Amino acid sequence: MSQTNHVKLAAIHRYDLGVVICKLCNEVIATLPTDGYKKFYSLCNAMSCIEKNKEENKR
Ligand SMILES: [Zn+2]
Repeated sequence: MSQTNHVKLAAIHRYDLGVVICKLCNEVIATLPTDGYKKFYSLCNAMSCIEKNKEENKR
């Protein structure tokens, strides 16, 4: 019985633990391959959020 080493090319699915979330609508904008779970707050490109952000900066 000949043994062949079947190397399975398993695609290593690395989940990005860092998430970039829109601070206004909580939409996940992007993921980052960070070391551990991290949350980053940013702004998505939805008009409503951009406008809202502008207004909040005025105050
Ligand atoms: Zn948003």
